[in-house]
Amino acid sequence: MLLTLSTTHHPATDLGYLLHKNPHRPQSFELSFGHAHVFYPEATEARTTVALLLEVDPVGLVRERRGPSGEGGVLAQYVNDRPYVASSFLSVALARTFRNAMSGSSKERPDLARQPLPLVARLSVLPCRGGEPFLRKLFEPLGYTVTATRHALDETVPDWGHSRYFTVTLEAHTRLSDLLTHLYVLIPVLDDDKHYWVGDEEVEKLLRHGEGWLAAHPERDIITRRYLRHRRSLAREALERLSGDEAPEPEEGTQARNQEEAALESRLSLNEQRLQAVVAVLKESGATRVVDLGCGEGKLLRALLKERQFTDILGMDVSFRSLEIARDRLDLDRMPELQRRRIQLLHGSLMYRDARLAGYEAASVIEVIEHLDPPRLAAFERVLFESARPNVVALTTPNAEYNVRFESLPAGTFRHRDHRFEWTRAEFESWAQGICERFGYSVRFLPVGPLDPDVGAPTQMAVFAR
Ligand code: SAH
Repeated sequence: MLLTLSTTHHPATDLGYLLHKNPHRPQSFELSFGHAHVFYPEATEARTTVALLLEVDPVGLVRERRGPSGEGGVLAQYVNDRPYVASSFLSVALARTFRNAMSGSSKERPDLARQPLPLVARLSVLPCRGGEPFLRKLFEPLGYTVTATRHALDETVPDWGHSRYFTVTLEAHTRLSDLLTHLYVLIPVLDDDKHYWVGDEEVEKLLRHGEGWLAAHPERDIITRRYLRHRRSLAREALERLSGDEAPEPEEGTQARNQEEAALESRLSLNEQRLQAVVAVLKESGATRVVDLGCGEGKLLRALLKERQFTDILGMDVSFRSLEIARDRLDLDRMPELQRRRIQLLHGSLMYRDARLAGYEAASVIEVIEHLDPPRLAAFERVLFESARPNVVALTTPNAEYNVRFESLPAGTFRHRDHRFEWTRAEFESWAQGICERFGYSVRFLPVGPLDPDVGAPTQMAVFAR
């Protein structure tokens, strides 16, 4: 079984530092089920490829009583595809040989380990139960370009048709640790065969490796069930915990922080002014179908419901807890039928393309982008401006220049502890212009809140139109 990873990052030989494996020194590792060999078929500054070659010993597996046993008869224990295909054994080998890289740490290149890089993974033989469509459903939402070549069952007997084996290439601009973790979790899911390692601790492993992407993956349920080998009780536990984990931070913490931010801005009732400004833009757009992305506890949704122009209102958020609060506050369960039909809440993430976001004429994204990790902004941009593509987008974010006017805010700190960044007007404007160039939109900027001659308004809003 062969897995190769290539990069064209410059200098590409840095891959050796990220993997903690010297490109000039082939290494072998003994595993309980065979051997893993790591070597570099190419290592130049322009392009470097590392190979992980896994030899699985099926006879040893039976002797050690680790491999598939029982079903399929004795012969199947010795003659099977395990030595040749990517399976949970490859995942174990990945975790053993590239442990540091998988956790995102690198002694020599710590910054690079946190950066998205141009990466290509190639799996020589990947069994795909569910075929190419399922393969795509797993990897495409994570931003990979997938190429798959299906192999015949027997090339000399074409009538037998296709096998379930594919040669697969996955290409993305992503962090190495993300790529390794996605492979670690998803290879056994595609194989959907027996692992010898499913137990309670697998729930922990799945949650740990799924952190940051699994909770909101459109195929989350089937990934979880297959990864945990259809053991209902384990899968249920994992899914419950994944839903709980979706809130970006523990509930009490979030509420406290939201209050801190609210207190800071309350003097201006900035929140109210922001909502009014966004409602005005959405009304002016003439849209009837609108979506509020990162709707939180539903403050804008309430305002939108008051406007009869909006016949189809969708609120989307990654935090299940916030959606529950929104549901209560809007009193959805007791809303008259006609009113109830106008509004829907959707649990989803702005990191993933989502067909359910298509067809909305206008979108709002209020105070959300500053909660996203900067390397992930590109994924968000594609989800909204390339895939969902509403005619109008109203997007707000704090204006960092205004922070000096908040007396209680220590210099150099953000308004909310979960903010990953706060931009000056110039930074925001240049980001927005980039979007226009890449996705064919135009943009205008509106200040929200009292306008200060030196530092501008506390909130900045961009209105994109196409
Ligand atoms: N728009 C609301 C909430 C802003 S707080 C308001 O103005 O009141 C930011 C919100 O973005 C939170 O509810 C958070 O859960 C949500 N969020 C953060 N990351 C997200 C993601 N990747 N996808 C969808 N929502 C996300």
